[in-house]
Amino acid sequence: MLAARLGLALFVVAWIFDLLGLRSYVPVWLPFLVALGLELQLFVGASRSAPPEPGGGHRLPQSIDYERYGYADLDDEEEADEDEDDDVPQPRRALRRLLAGVAIAGALAAVVWLAGNRGWDGLDEETRAEATARFSEEASRIVGRPVEIRCDEAGEFVGAVQHADGVAAVGGRLAYLTPEICHDLYRLAFRDDVTFSRTARAIAVLAHEAWHLRGERNEGVTECYALQSGVELGTRLGLDEDTARRMMRQQLAENQLRGRGSVEYLVPEECRDGGALDLDPGSSRFP
Ligand SMILES: [Zn+2]
Repeated sequence: MLAARLGLALFVVAWIFDLLGLRSYVPVWLPFLVALGLELQLFVGASRSAPPEPGGGHRLPQSIDYERYGYADLDDEEEADEDEDDDVPQPRRALRRLLAGVAIAGALAAVVWLAGNRGWDGLDEETRAEATARFSEEASRIVGRPVEIRCDEAGEFVGAVQHADGVAAVGGRLAYLTPEICHDLYRLAFRDDVTFSRTARAIAVLAHEAWHLRGERNEGVTECYALQSGVELGTRLGLDEDTARRMMRQQLAENQLRGRGSVEYLVPEECRDGGALDLDPGSSRFP
């Protein structure tokens, strides 16, 4: 069990620093689910293998219990004195171990939450205003008229519930991005700090919402246009063209892999060099 808890802690560290591009491959809740599963399995196993208590299984504490274990103060004493383990009945030990495991997982989840939120929210107001102005300017170039990009700090419009990185009214003038996407864009544009797949995703999302604002409703078509616009967008935000192109090709490849699961977002067949959705049919590069 120690190994599982240690593994979870290592994962959290790796996730926070995004080692090996972990964030784009492993959903953050998955290791927590696995760890909790292991804790539960251990708990159930320990409870079943426990020898029957004298006088039957789940009885209420009787006076002897109070004397032997100091029932009322059990929590405090158990934390303080590990040597008493042998005196504590097996099911209680298993339960205690389960609660400890859940508490550890909860603490680690809090760390992840704080680290995940710190990024964009950790920036001062002036910097955020400057960054969103820049994102708006870039989106406006794609739309062809002034539009506004906001970073949804309150989590009101985008986030875990919708499982979307952004939202925009089709043909409108306002789009929201998640703080995570905003932070990745900020890192690129203001810090020259790039994490290949995350930066690629952030560029693709900004371009995607911009194409919705421009009036495109179909998700697949929007993504196809976005990945093409993303090359210039990425270059303008500070990438060299070759990197920007590789990023958008990676996003396109990922879209085709993911598309098997969600057809709505899959780019259409015509999203290829020389296809009907090729924004630059004269060029032989795509995106
Ligand atoms: Zn969309």
